[in-house]
Amino acid sequence: MDDLTSGTRDKRGNWRPNDAIENAPVFVWPIRPMKFLRWLPSYFLPWNIIFFAISAVFWFLLTPSREALETIEWGWVIYLFARNSAIVILFYGALELRLYVKRRQGTHFKYNGKFPSEHPSDVFMFKSQNVDNIIRTFGTGLPIWTAYEVGMLWAWANGWGPWATFSEHPIWLICFGLILPILHEFHFYCIHRLIHIPVLYKWIHSVHHNSVNPSPWSSLSMHPVEHLLYWSGSLIHLVLPSHPLLMIYHLNIAGTGAVVGHVGFDKIETGEDGAFDTHAYAHYLHHKYFEVNYADGMMPLDRWMGTWHDGSKAGDKIMQDRFRKKKEKANARKGEA
Ligand SMILES: [Zn+2]
Ligand SMILES: [Zn+2]
Repeated sequence: MDDLTSGTRDKRGNWRPNDAIENAPVFVWPIRPMKFLRWLPSYFLPWNIIFFAISAVFWFLLTPSREALETIEWGWVIYLFARNSAIVILFYGALELRLYVKRRQGTHFKYNGKFPSEHPSDVFMFKSQNVDNIIRTFGTGLPIWTAYEVGMLWAWANGWGPWATFSEHPIWLICFGLILPILHEFHFYCIHRLIHIPVLYKWIHSVHHNSVNPSPWSSLSMHPVEHLLYWSGSLIHLVLPSHPLLMIYHLNIAGTGAVVGHVGFDKIETGEDGAFDTHAYAHYLHHKYFEVNYADGMMPLDRWMGTWHDGSKAGDKIMQDRFRKKKEKANARKGEA
């Protein structure tokens, strides 16, 4: 597939799409129903449908019985850890294998022309982005994800919290399930802004930003405190009436779903002429430029707060002007002091 019909490649081999990224036409006034309907499939496809399907398999087939969950025991805790780890290995591993190991599409649609494995760096354990990322993913990421799940399943089994059933509250639970990706993005935006405060950035979030050229395993490569904050959005299921299936889906949107922003490719080719969009560009730009796109680009939070970069040349200019003004202000303050 020719990636130069929908984008351009610079001298360094970095590819960028021709079309600017657009926020979802949901939070706009006046409402734009036709645009909304055209956008709607991309809310579900490909990712959220996959994460929901995984969560349904987890809940209906791979979660211990309610009686077992009433008492916390190492056996089922380790089982849930293994089950969550397995989906990450399968999902991230498949993307890594296809795009970064076998390089099935070379650098087609790849934002950064380089492959991280060819550029060892001292910022990573064992100088390897992948080894470092994998140690952090399974060392603290998966245990913390599983700990949230264990706690909430245990609360559900013991009747603690406003848990509801689909037979009694179908409309509410379906609506709640439908907006979970939006809630996740809003929560992510808030904690993400928080950990970009310089002192917290240095202590916590710089770990995640070591991967300037992110690849699938970078997704959950975070400091443990960031892991704790990252999945804390799921605690909403102890506040609003919910169902364990939705709680597991929420954890999966964050956990398995973290890979969406870190694929490093704009499209994944599925054959000679087929490809699907990854929606990775907004977060890729965050890894590249740090102080843009704190949300994932679906909600217009960055647009409202003046930190939006839509990936276009005009977006570059707005960002550079903003950075320049910030620098001038900082210098002026230094001059006064
Ligand atoms: Zn990231
Ligand atoms: Zn960040």
